[in-house]
Amino acid sequence: MTHVDHQRPSAVDFYRRSLDCVHCGLCLPACPTYQALGVEADSPRGRIYLMRALAEGRVDDPQSIRPFLDRCLDCRACETACPSGVRYGEILETVRTDLEQKAPRRGPGAWLVRTLLTHVVARQNRLRLLFALLGIAEVLGLRWLAERLRLLPASMRAVAPRIPPRAERRPLPTGVHRPAVPVRGRVGLFTGCVMEPLFGRVNRATLRLLLANGFEVVVPAAQRCCGALLVHAGLAGRARPLATANLDAFADVDVVINNSAGCGCALKETGHLLGNDRAQAFARKCRDISEFLAEVGLTATPAPRRARAAYDDPCHLCHGQGVRTQPRQLLAQVPGLELVPHDRPEDCCGSAGIYNLLQPALAAEIGNRKVESLAAANVDLVITGNPGCMLQIDSHLRRIGHRATVRHPVELLLPP
Ligand code: SF4
Ligand code: SF4
Repeated sequence: MTHVDHQRPSAVDFYRRSLDCVHCGLCLPACPTYQALGVEADSPRGRIYLMRALAEGRVDDPQSIRPFLDRCLDCRACETACPSGVRYGEILETVRTDLEQKAPRRGPGAWLVRTLLTHVVARQNRLRLLFALLGIAEVLGLRWLAERLRLLPASMRAVAPRIPPRAERRPLPTGVHRPAVPVRGRVGLFTGCVMEPLFGRVNRATLRLLLANGFEVVVPAAQRCCGALLVHAGLAGRARPLATANLDAFADVDVVINNSAGCGCALKETGHLLGNDRAQAFARKCRDISEFLAEVGLTATPAPRRARAAYDDPCHLCHGQGVRTQPRQLLAQVPGLELVPHDRPEDCCGSAGIYNLLQPALAAEIGNRKVESLAAANVDLVITGNPGCMLQIDSHLRRIGHRATVRHPVELLLPP
């Protein structure tokens, strides 16, 4: 009996979907790991071949294909490039989950990642506590000391962000926020896990922007992490209770707004994760902030901003959600903002959740290509809508000494 025969239905689904791949290879040039390594097994086509072989019981040791799956960023550029409609992300995430169940990773590193994702990142109070402790360590100079003594791995030193001051990390007040202008509608706001402690200003700008444009905003206290990082790590079982809690938390609103491409993609895939009608209905309510505002139109004119800027597409917004024109349409309404193109707007930046910590060399190479493209565009501002991308692009811009600052689209769209 092959693996396929005794998998749960989603695993059979993934196998069937992998059969859609006709091995044409049109996805290969779009794949950042194939671009970097030039190895077939590190391409979408090669990985699909390996995953199909696993499903058909032709892989003796599942661990042997793991390095190739681990090097995949789950960026989904291959889905955009694929003319056959192969749903690569779903295939990969299902296989990663099956591997994690049948042949869990061993060792302290794997334990640490599982523990952090499951017991810290997915629990907002613990994540807040972690950032509070890291903030204190930074104020006391312990980070400086750890860097001087080289206690932190070089990869972590390069990408670890500065911890913002406490005022910046404060959570959004939960409950109902009412606009001071005539009300056009009512929306829920999903506040995410790392957006709050690292980019609290973006959450506050999102709230202000919605209010200024006439929307009553509900910030449910009971909302939970979207579980995207858990799903990417093959821990979908841990993500399901979080997704179920979010169905309840946002039951009273018809639209759920998020400002993080990775979270937004996961929220829209809640139907796939939970596999029931209620989850499908919830997924249909979810919108990226730029998608929503482009649809309803801005009623508050953004404050003027004299700058030359490049918009960079987060993978999980362009490839994962098909949202490309909306942020550009909105940014075109900022008086004085000169929006210029750059060569690689839809290429992955190498952040990909915690990929830049787990695969530092490859992530750095991919990140370098991204900032070379941005530097060639000679911009003052880089605008992108995902916290991981903001951190990764910022750290690589600083590394090459480029002057550009990184901002989220909502920060440019606020009225004076
Ligand atoms: S998801 Fe990205 S890294 Fe993975 S195979 Fe597809 S294009 Fe390559
Ligand atoms: S483009 Fe699609 S069909 Fe062609 S090799 Fe890639 S995944 Fe398979």
